[in-house]
Order: sequence, then C-alpha cells, then structure tokens
Amino acid sequence: MKALTVTIRRFDPDRDREPYYQTFTVQVNEGARVLHVFHAIHDTIDPTLSYRYSCASGQCGSCAVRVNGEPVLACMEEARNHSTIEPINLSVKKDLVVDLLPKLEEIASFLPKKETTLPKKQEIDAIKPLRDCIECLCCLSVCPAVDVTKFLGPTAMRQEMRLALDPRDRGDRVSDAVRDGLFTCTSCQACWKVCPKEIEIPGKAIEKLRAYANKRGFTLPRHLEVAALIRETGRSVPRTAESFLEQVPEVLEPYGPVKATVGFFVGCMYNLRQQQSALDAMEVLRRNGIRVIIPKEQVCCSSPLIRTGQLDYVDTLKKRNIEAFRFRGIDTVLTMCAGCGTTLKNDYKTPFKVIDINELLTQYGIEPPARLPIKATYHDPCHLLRGQGIRDQPRELARLVVELVEMPAICCGSGGGVRSGNPEEAAALGKRRGEEIKKSGAEIVITSCPFCEFHIMGHTDKPVKNIATVLLEGYREKDRKKAAGTKN
Ligand code: SF4
Ligand code: SF4
Repeated sequence: MKALTVTIRRFDPDRDREPYYQTFTVQVNEGARVLHVFHAIHDTIDPTLSYRYSCASGQCGSCAVRVNGEPVLACMEEARNHSTIEPINLSVKKDLVVDLLPKLEEIASFLPKKETTLPKKQEIDAIKPLRDCIECLCCLSVCPAVDVTKFLGPTAMRQEMRLALDPRDRGDRVSDAVRDGLFTCTSCQACWKVCPKEIEIPGKAIEKLRAYANKRGFTLPRHLEVAALIRETGRSVPRTAESFLEQVPEVLEPYGPVKATVGFFVGCMYNLRQQQSALDAMEVLRRNGIRVIIPKEQVCCSSPLIRTGQLDYVDTLKKRNIEAFRFRGIDTVLTMCAGCGTTLKNDYKTPFKVIDINELLTQYGIEPPARLPIKATYHDPCHLLRGQGIRDQPRELARLVVELVEMPAICCGSGGGVRSGNPEEAAALGKRRGEEIKKSGAEIVITSCPFCEFHIMGHTDKPVKNIATVLLEGYREKDRKKAAGTKN
C-alpha cells in the first residue's frame, strides 16, 4: 500500500454556488488506477463524492474524467501523486458526473432499409475502425469547434460516416453531416489523441465525409476557390510579392563544414506570404552546417485539398513533389510548415525521410545563440504537436534564447479550411488564443507554423515570431556582442 494525494474538483448544485477543489490523501495499492482512488475516498473519507463507473475495464466509457487537464478513463489511468482530477468538459451534474444524455441523443441512429443488402468485405473493413466507440465523449469534451459553433462534434461525425458506409442504412448521412457542422472541424486532431479507442475521426470520418460532400456539391465556395487557385498556379495562396523560391538559389551551402544535406519543402505560406520566416530559417541552417537543396518545381503539398475533401488533383501534386526531390537523389526532406510536415509524413508515401526543422536542429545540436531578456510563450501548432508528436524540441530551442512561459495547447482556429471557409469560427478561436496569450504574461509569442503565425497575429497585440526568427535574433545578438567586444 502507498499514500497518494489528489485534488478533485467538487460541485453539488444543491449546495454549492461555485465549484471548488478539495485535496484528499488515501492509501491505495501499487499500480492503483484513478478509479481505485475514487473508491478509497468514497469508502474511507467522503461518501458524498460522486463519480460514475460501470465495467471498470475500459469497455463502457462511463468513467471519463480529466486528469491534469487530459480526458482519460478513470478505470484505465494509473493514479499519480498530486494529480488534479476534474469532470470532462460537459455540463456537470455533481462532482465528476457529467450530463452525457443530451449529447448521446444527438448521435445518429441506424435507419434500416426495407430491403437490405449485406455490406461487402471492403465496406466492413472501412466500417470497422469507426465501430469501436464506447461513447465516453472524451473527444467531444476537447473539440474546439464544439465550443464556438453548433457543431455536433467528433463522435457524431464518426457515426455519420459509419452509417454512410453501411448499405443497410437509409439515412442521407452526408447532408446530415453538413447540416451538423462537418465544415467546422479545424483538423486539430485533439479528438483522435484523447480517444481511448484510438479512433482516427479527422482522417477516417471527417475528411472522408467531406470527400463525399464534395461529390454531392456541398464543398464551401471559398474551398472551391482555393482548389481552383491550386490547379491554376500550383499554390494555395495568391502571389502578392516575390516568392521565397525566387529569392534563393537552388543550393544553399553552410558557412562552415557540412554536417548534413537536406531538401527543403517550403510550402505555400512560407513561399508566398511569410517569406521572411523561411529566409531566417535558411540562415539558421547555414550557420549550423546544414546544406539545403531547394527544388524550384515543388508545389502545394495538397493539404488544403485533403482536409477539405477535394481529392481529384491530390495525386498530381504528390507526384510532382515526390519527383522534384527524388530526381535530385535527396534522402531527407525538411519541412518548417506544420501542415506540410504532417501531410508529407502521414498522407504521402515518400521514398525519402521527412523531418521537421525543430527535430533536425535538436537532433544535430546547434551553436548556442545569445540569450535575449524576453519572456515568451510558445503556441503548439496542432499539426506539429498532434500531427507529428513534436512538443519538446521547439521549447528546447526557444529556451536557448528566451525565458519561456507555458499556456494551454489549444487550437488557434486557422486549420482544416476553417480560416477561409468559416471566418467567424476562426476569429472566435483566435480570440480565445489571444486571451490565453494575454494571461500568460509573455511579451512575444513563438510558433512554428505559418498558418498559426499569420492567424494569431490578428488576435494578439504581442509580436508573433517563428522559432527560426527567434534563433536568428539570438545569433545576431551574439555577433553584435562579439563585434563590440572585439572593438573594445
Ligand atoms: S479534429 Fe479537432 S475540430 Fe475536428 S472534430 Fe476533432 S477535435 Fe473537433
Ligand atoms: S470516439 Fe473515442 S473519445 Fe469519442 S466517444 Fe467514442 S470512444 Fe470516446
């Protein structure tokens, strides 16, 4: 047995005006789960503690709670000392018990056809990954789109897709999904990452439903315009100034000995809208011994088309990009756009390795920059944090230059075609991001995605800087100090 202390958010609507936090210390066995802690509190300290459970084996989904902010099943999560345990982010009935029913009632039910055809093997295989839901609603509780729109949420979309695939169902699941907010999903992937059954809702339900919706003429007008621009120019944003690709030679040699050679995949935003961030990154790479090859015939990675379900032209773009790097014998392709990186890593089959700039710089180690007297916060781009699992590396790099303060890793609202297709939703999520930046007390915001960079700029009065720019500022300060020292 061991002693374990946890803090639990309490609220009894019949007694309390506000929720409050209460700390308990209980004796539990080694390896105890969070649910065992609840039982121990209930049985030995406070029998009024309310929590829900049934199977206690990860099968029924009824014991979902948040532990240190993350939705988990209490019966499966190992209890850790000094954890804070709260209800999932839904209407609270009492303590850790939330009102699931209104949300479960919104999830579509099967509507059997009079004459049924059994699903074919291919249909069964497609349905399978969508069928494992245990209705814990962890996904719904983290969905940013649900917070600011009337979106029914990830598991409702999962069910629409599951039914759309079933030949025995007679519902019009595609138009229902469009009505229920299909185009409000920001592709943040938060639902997938918290799902105890690991159901890949963004890729296996939402993007697929959007592709069906495209065939039925439901694609949003702004998304159609972006697709037309890509077909016409190979790029998803219009040209307004000299592009990055026009400003650089095909090969950038490092200033010192070559430590590594990479191909650089620039992406539309860094090529045409945030050129300076990409130019700053090239300077950082050259300073750190990285030889960069930049094929000029590369085009849009196709993420704006995949995320919005417009798939007709995707293979053409993929082929052009793969060929541009393969032709030069490049075995490692570097990305600095979180969206391009996640697309190249997860939606392509590449004959080369794809690496994000934060991974590359931390892997090889960099020349230490000078420190700047700045307090900064870091915004996790969804497609870097959840799409590529990159959390610590950008923080490690940023801490070389600035003092870093944390803020919650929430979606800024720029992804999934939401900024172009649903600007009001994007603005509402951007505003929320801006408020968290303000609360953090930081003087600047650092990020590592051009979409986030561009979008957040509109929702904070603090400067928003790319991680590469911050490193370069550290190097410039170092050079300045060295030059001043030399003169002195
Ligand atoms: S990807 Fe993000 S926005 Fe889309 S359904 Fe999942 S949690 Fe919601
Ligand atoms: S999809 Fe996953 S997270 Fe969402 S309700 Fe079902 S099991 Fe829970």
